[in-house]
Amino acid sequence: MDVIGKLRERAAELADLSHVMALMQWDQEVMLPRGGAAERAQQFATLSGIVHRRAVDPALGEFLAAAEAAADRLDTVERALVRKMRRGYDQNTKLPEAFVTELAALTSRALPVWVAARRDNDFASFAPLLSRLVEMNRRQADYLGYDEEPYDALLDCYEEGLTAREVRDCFSVLLEPLRELLAGVAPAEEWQPRVPFVEAEQVRFADRLLGLIGFDFERGRQDRSAHPFSTGLGRNDQRVTNRYAPQSIEFIFSALHEGGHALYEQNIGPELARTPLANGVSLGIHESQSRFWENIIGRSRPFWQYCYSLLGEAFPAQFGTLALDDFLATVNAVRPGLIRVDADELSYNLHVLIRFELEQALISGELAVADLPAAWGERYRDYLGVVVPSDADGVLQDIHWAHGSFGYFPTYTIGNLAAAQIWHAYRRFDPDWAATLARGDFARVGGWLATNIHRHGGVYLPRELLLRVTGEELAPRHFLGYLKEKFGR
Ligand code: ZN
Repeated sequence: MDVIGKLRERAAELADLSHVMALMQWDQEVMLPRGGAAERAQQFATLSGIVHRRAVDPALGEFLAAAEAAADRLDTVERALVRKMRRGYDQNTKLPEAFVTELAALTSRALPVWVAARRDNDFASFAPLLSRLVEMNRRQADYLGYDEEPYDALLDCYEEGLTAREVRDCFSVLLEPLRELLAGVAPAEEWQPRVPFVEAEQVRFADRLLGLIGFDFERGRQDRSAHPFSTGLGRNDQRVTNRYAPQSIEFIFSALHEGGHALYEQNIGPELARTPLANGVSLGIHESQSRFWENIIGRSRPFWQYCYSLLGEAFPAQFGTLALDDFLATVNAVRPGLIRVDADELSYNLHVLIRFELEQALISGELAVADLPAAWGERYRDYLGVVVPSDADGVLQDIHWAHGSFGYFPTYTIGNLAAAQIWHAYRRFDPDWAATLARGDFARVGGWLATNIHRHGGVYLPRELLLRVTGEELAPRHFLGYLKEKFGR
């Protein structure tokens, strides 16, 4: 067997194992009886150990070296496969096994402490573990290596090739215009239906929306979980979840968001299946696809010109007498607040900026964990004009740091920026986009995304892909242009 054949065989084995683990994770969030949690944790630990040993197998390193020596005889996909497998192999072998085990043990200890600290508004009980997590992330950056600053090594784990300097540049362009736009918008009241929703009807409509945007139910399904998410168990098995509350229309936007993630993976080229190329390019580009459907399409007038009558038929008691204009005002309401996941399109990236600044300062050692809540409050007052009444609704609100993830937050903003840039490129391709959407032809934009982005899976680097699709590298002006068009009145 040639060396690429050997690599493909190894890749397939690792992909199968990771899909089995994804299935266990999905099951844990959707189906697992409470009593099964401890055994499930043991199953995870056992399987993680097997996967880790396979991932650092010296024979794999030899195949990679042989393939790299023959790189000029490889085609684009083969070269990408070698690059991606090299990246995984290096990440796995650079971290000593004792370090990986220690970090896993620390995060599993930290998670329940964080849950209790958030519930009891007790930052002090979580602070010692957070300090340890910061310190271990600093060590992880040293093991992985970086050119400019330790934070880059952490960021690179989520967004290959992105540096803190580039993220800072993006935010320095965004900050003032975002604050100006926010200052010019009157805060809106929260809308509530006069009659509560019936869950079965919400589920039916969420399924219908997924179908409308091109989700293939032969190769995926939608279920319930405490927090919406999407996961891939293979190219032909994409799982999305949603949650339903009697007073909330969030299920509509969660369906579009998770559906956007799932469409990405359902459309990846079949020749990439069972390789590490059968994922999105990066977290940021993945998020661009979910934000594209959730916000850019899903909160637009043309989309609802088609879908609003369907919504009215599904929920006559809630929407029968609400005019389309009022509905659009409701789903695009701007309300600067405390909670990132509830944030509107204008303020969302300021929540991310705050986390980005603080986690950089933690990793560099400029900020001590004990001073974190005060620094959090200061920035919320400064950037969003809100007073943080408690740590539970402040620094303890996100799971990421408790999970040991530093460098993850910026990918949300990369997703928003990339989505607007991709939208700009689509509108050049389809100048009649508004009419296309208003007649319910979502396959046109879906097909364009599939051809230009999804099909390629992880073959290109994030910045290469963006360049191919939009003709330029990541540029915040498209996002600002989009916001000004929408909110700048
Ligand atoms: Zn997402």
